[in-house]
Amino acid sequence: MPKRFLKADFFWPLAILAVFTMAVLVALVLSLVHQFDSVSREREQAVVANGLTGITGEVAHRVVAQAVWDEAVRNLDNRFDPVWASENIGQFLSQTGGFDTSFVLDAKDRAIYAADGPGTVDAGAFAAFAPATAAIVESVRAQEAARALNTARRSAPGKIPGPIQASSIAKVEGRLYILSATLVQPDFGHARPKGPRAPIVVTGMLLGQPFLKMFGERFMLRDLHVHGDDSRSDKRQAHIPLRTHSGDYVATLDWQPQTPGRTMLDQIGGPVLIIVALLSLAALTLYRRASGMAQSLVASEARATHLAYFDPLTGLPNRARFQERLDHALDHLRRDHQATVAVHSIDLDRFKEINDLHGHQVGDQLIKLAARRLAAVCRSTDTFARFGADEFAIVQANATAAQAAALADRLIEAMTAPFYLETNRSFIGCSIGITMVTDGDVDPGEAIRQADMALTRARADGGSRFCFFEIEMDAAVKTRRSLEIDLREALAAGSLDMAYQPQVNHRGVMTGVEALVRWRHPVRGPISPAFFVPIAEECGLISELGLFTIARAFQDSRRWKGLKVAINVSAIQLRTPGFVTAVSTLVSRLRVDPRRFELEITEGLLVGDDPETHDTLKRLRDLGFSLALDDFGTGYSSLSYLKRFPISKIKIDRSFIASLGIDEEADAVVGAIIRLARALKLNVIAEGVETSDQRDRLAAAGCSEIQGYLFSKPVSAADIEALRAAPAFMRTARAAA
Ligand code: C2E
Ligand code: MG
Ligand code: MG
Repeated sequence: MPKRFLKADFFWPLAILAVFTMAVLVALVLSLVHQFDSVSREREQAVVANGLTGITGEVAHRVVAQAVWDEAVRNLDNRFDPVWASENIGQFLSQTGGFDTSFVLDAKDRAIYAADGPGTVDAGAFAAFAPATAAIVESVRAQEAARALNTARRSAPGKIPGPIQASSIAKVEGRLYILSATLVQPDFGHARPKGPRAPIVVTGMLLGQPFLKMFGERFMLRDLHVHGDDSRSDKRQAHIPLRTHSGDYVATLDWQPQTPGRTMLDQIGGPVLIIVALLSLAALTLYRRASGMAQSLVASEARATHLAYFDPLTGLPNRARFQERLDHALDHLRRDHQATVAVHSIDLDRFKEINDLHGHQVGDQLIKLAARRLAAVCRSTDTFARFGADEFAIVQANATAAQAAALADRLIEAMTAPFYLETNRSFIGCSIGITMVTDGDVDPGEAIRQADMALTRARADGGSRFCFFEIEMDAAVKTRRSLEIDLREALAAGSLDMAYQPQVNHRGVMTGVEALVRWRHPVRGPISPAFFVPIAEECGLISELGLFTIARAFQDSRRWKGLKVAINVSAIQLRTPGFVTAVSTLVSRLRVDPRRFELEITEGLLVGDDPETHDTLKRLRDLGFSLALDDFGTGYSSLSYLKRFPISKIKIDRSFIASLGIDEEADAVVGAIIRLARALKLNVIAEGVETSDQRDRLAAAGCSEIQGYLFSKPVSAADIEALRAAPAFMRTARAAA
């Protein structure tokens, strides 16, 4: 989602901006190029226009040498010598000056001489030129008149006057000419004009290809040509209008102007395009890199937020998120005093066994499947969270106790169907503790703690059930806490003691004893190991407690020759690394024969067929210990591990014995267990035998050994000696029977 959000948000605006910027840049460059070229063209036009004026003047100036000359005054003015005119005007101007035509006009502006190229022609040829030359001839006459006036006023005699000339571009018979008119004047004053109006030499030079070629080369103009239609001018062409002396349009001079901007663009356009392309590529890469970084930032932020609030395995809210939602619900309680909030604490039954048995991968798979099933049962208003391992919790906002119970029922129901895991089919259940919160000021941590206490009760009651928190539970938990501390002290102070309960054979002969740990609390008095052993297991004291009882049993056993001693070993203790080593160290230190000892383990230890447990039990057996299965019938009672593990005895749980003679089924079960033990060549002992009837039924069923109050309660080590020594024991036992 953040990825799409980012693209939509930044990509298009950025792309549009980039394209727009590029377009503006290109337009700017093109406009600059255009402007550059226009300025250059205008300048070129100005230069060419000047140049043309210059060349026109220059062309006219070629006549000065022939017209402003004492000889010319003598031969054209004082008298007219056609031979002189032919040689010095017609031929000379054609050959040396490059003129196409030349005329000599007399004082009355009548043609007295005409030449076409070098050759003299009839003076009448001037008629065609007369209209086109009228203006320049008139200009020359005006200058002449003005000069005469000035000379009359102040000019010093003998001073050489400047030439009087006029020139123009004009069309004559459809052809363009540079026309000039030059007044015939003396140069050194050796000759004097005969009248006030001197003759005029008129010349015409065709503005044709040779001229254009020369002009073009001089000004480095390409494709120079003349046309007579001004409107036809191409905008990209440079052009200047050609005008007559009096300013009338005659024709247009066109050429291909220099285009420095375009040339520059042509030269640098390629590299610039490549640079722009590279820059765009770099920008795009940068953008992608940056947006990639931004995306990954957004993603990692989202991931971090998710991690902070959600459990990575199931995707469910985690404890922090749960706490937040609980705070929310409690907030609501503060405003609405009628409302109640249910907090459920959920634990999967038998999860640990499956996890231990099949490994973490299967365990994780189970958690995911279970979480999915439980979540499916919850409503959208419930917050279902995972706290860790197989612990889950629910905040059920605005729920009555009945609704909370209904939800718990649905959750338990959802867990009854089997789970199909990688390797097999597993049945697990769930236990739920619920607390109803009515007071918004309750600490959320306290609410969770109460639900946990109710959960402990639900599990203690056998699991696959739910239990509401009651205020007494709190007291029980507090008691448990203080007992933990006291037990630690008692162990450290060595104030625990051992009791031994006799085990007798079918003839009433004591064959062994079971070692049972005793704790007399300074305030609470005697506390049952059934209560404090699990506490020791939970708070990490079991190894210490276990080794203490084993050591004491080893020591006390020395007092009774020939008696087997049964020692209870907790599953958790047996699984602790180093247990076998610690026991074998005790064996050598206290110099006892392990063959005299029977370790009582429970079925739970064997479930899972864990190779390490196998190994531990095998090593214990190899040391010489025998193994008995305690409380048989209450757990899984599976035959398979009886064969697989080195068990030599089973101990029928006292709950079956208590029901003997009362519940027929108990008799049947006990009978079946004894037959099974026989079949498997296992010894069998019944515990908790309190009555002679129970003893007789067991004897009838073929149970070889019994243990129970019928013969003796657990007693001190010294009392065991006494019991053995007293011949009355047998009688007492019999009498009790
Ligand atoms: P358990 O191993 O099944 O021990 C037998 C329990 O039944 C003992 O309770 C014993 O006092 C009681 N009992 C014996 N005969 C009768 C009878 O005729 N009627 C009745 N109602 N009860 C009888 P205790 O000593 O309270 O021990 C309870 C459990 O605590 C034991 O059950 C055993 O699991 C555990 N335990 C006791 N001592 C130790 C120990 O040193 N280490 C470990 N790990 N566990 C111990
Ligand atoms: Mg036992
Ligand atoms: Mg037992």
